[in-house]
Amino acid sequence: MKTKGTVTGIVSNLVSVRVDGPVSENEICYIDLAGVRMMAEVIKVNGDTASVQVFESTRGLKGGDSVEFEGRMLEATLGPGLLSSVYDGLQNNLATMDSVFLRRGEYTDPLDHEKLWDFTPLVKSGDSVVAADWLGEVKEGWLPHKIMVPFSFSGTYTVKSVKEAGSYNVDTEIAVLTDEKGDDHSVTMVQKWPVKIAIKGYREKPRPDRIMETGVRVIDTLNPIAEGGTGFIPGPFGCGKTVLQHAIAKQGDADVIVMAACGERANEVVEIFTEFPELIDPHTGRHLMERTTIICNTSNMPVAAREASVYTAMTICEYYRAMGLKCLLLADSTSRWAQALREMSNRMEELPGADAFPVDLSAIISNFYARAGMVILNNGQRGAVTFIGTVSPAGGNLKEPVTESTKKAARCFYALEQNRADQKRYPAVGPLESYSKYLDYPEIAEYLDKTVEEGWVEKVLRSKNIIRRGKEAAEQINILGDDGVPMSYHVNFWKSELVDFVILQQDAFDAVDALCPLERQRFMLDLILEICEKDYEFEDFEKCREFFKNLINELRQMNYSVYESEQFFAYNDSVKKMIA
Ligand code: ADP
Ligand code: MG
Repeated sequence: MKTKGTVTGIVSNLVSVRVDGPVSENEICYIDLAGVRMMAEVIKVNGDTASVQVFESTRGLKGGDSVEFEGRMLEATLGPGLLSSVYDGLQNNLATMDSVFLRRGEYTDPLDHEKLWDFTPLVKSGDSVVAADWLGEVKEGWLPHKIMVPFSFSGTYTVKSVKEAGSYNVDTEIAVLTDEKGDDHSVTMVQKWPVKIAIKGYREKPRPDRIMETGVRVIDTLNPIAEGGTGFIPGPFGCGKTVLQHAIAKQGDADVIVMAACGERANEVVEIFTEFPELIDPHTGRHLMERTTIICNTSNMPVAAREASVYTAMTICEYYRAMGLKCLLLADSTSRWAQALREMSNRMEELPGADAFPVDLSAIISNFYARAGMVILNNGQRGAVTFIGTVSPAGGNLKEPVTESTKKAARCFYALEQNRADQKRYPAVGPLESYSKYLDYPEIAEYLDKTVEEGWVEKVLRSKNIIRRGKEAAEQINILGDDGVPMSYHVNFWKSELVDFVILQQDAFDAVDALCPLERQRFMLDLILEICEKDYEFEDFEKCREFFKNLINELRQMNYSVYESEQFFAYNDSVKKMIA
């Protein structure tokens, strides 16, 4: 028997419901509005009153309308066909609709039930399996998509039967599993999982031990993110958060990419729709969309759907991680999600925390970031979810609660600075404030020693020191004037400009410069250190400026030339002559 209820109060999309039976937090219910069933989620239960957030406009809803509770949480539907799909936060398939606007109470199916998938079994009758074990495989694009024992199964099962190789749709029974009591369970290619609960089904979750290449120098060279690591990009409006995140999405070394877009501007979401399907994956030469799922927040959806989007996106990543794949989750912007939490909390008249955000904001953000990570599956294979979120602090104030809470949760910090953006020094990542805690991990240092160059982390720290000394010199020159400081100050300043222009700055819109592979980053950092660790004598500061400006020009030409091409080496030779 389903629990029923009656609407007793409405504040925008927060609705109070008097219930006639048990309900639990995060349970899903449907409110009946003259035959239209609107989905809502319980966020608080108090005696016989449940507060529910409605995922749609509550226009026309009135006291006395009836509600039916489902006895389950908000779930994601998982199966082949998630990749290359565009969903909203409730996993409505936006691509199959006539317009981006769903009618109220209309929910579409996330998966194609007609499409046939070439299935190959990976187990045989008599095998013992547990939740998340691989029963078979289909090809989703070019990726192996594992059909797993549903994550909700507990205990050990015996495979009673498994389908032979062939083409089947997602609803075909591909295996029958017998539990310890002797009961049979049918398994298809589709399973459901509550989005607010992390998917387990792995043996251990050790610390990340390698980096995820992004082709962005300021990340890979200076502040690398680990495979299975976490990072965030705070920055004022217009400083390049979305451009940087899209560069990571296009170039990141991952098998699967999930983008949760709660755009600041309506046209950003439209841009994703139109731009992503056209993009070519630099790693495979195929369409990037083949390994991407996009979760968009359409502008007609109320705030509650933003929360659903980030959780649905994370759940999809965890699902692919359980197949032994490297997944990259990007959320733009998580501030929008936090604002949704704030609105609901205020409507419920809860005691507010800092800036009226809910008091448990920090815990909510930490728990979410903690779902990322590298895992060792039960069969010994690796899988990873790397998560990078953007944060848009109001007025660029990095002390506001969402930025502060995220800083505690994420291990990489890529702070975009207004003054760098104003000077068109893109990506506007502040070199001294930003950090990657992974550089302190011995496992990561060892990995970089092996894959990039012996003693790499120490070189990175040296380059950061050049920037630090340059900044100090610039401050002194500002106070004392060009002639009031020793020549060494000018030299230090210009050395840091060189690191800035050649390593930090990168043109996201230039075909060559946009993607800088690690080998190339190694070559450039070695060259920059060679230049910067030499002593130079100049008659006056103008000669010094001219020398470094010419050098920067040549080095920038190198960045724009194909790596190791004739042209590249010609510029390299000319640089070497200049510093001889
Ligand atoms: P935000 O998401 O922080 O509001 P955007 O990512 O939309 O900001 O960036 C704003 C503008 O800054 C872009 O439209 C682009 O012109 C410029 N920009 C940002 N990053 C770069 C980059 N790496 N290279 C060149 N231009 C950039
Ligand atoms: Mg943006």
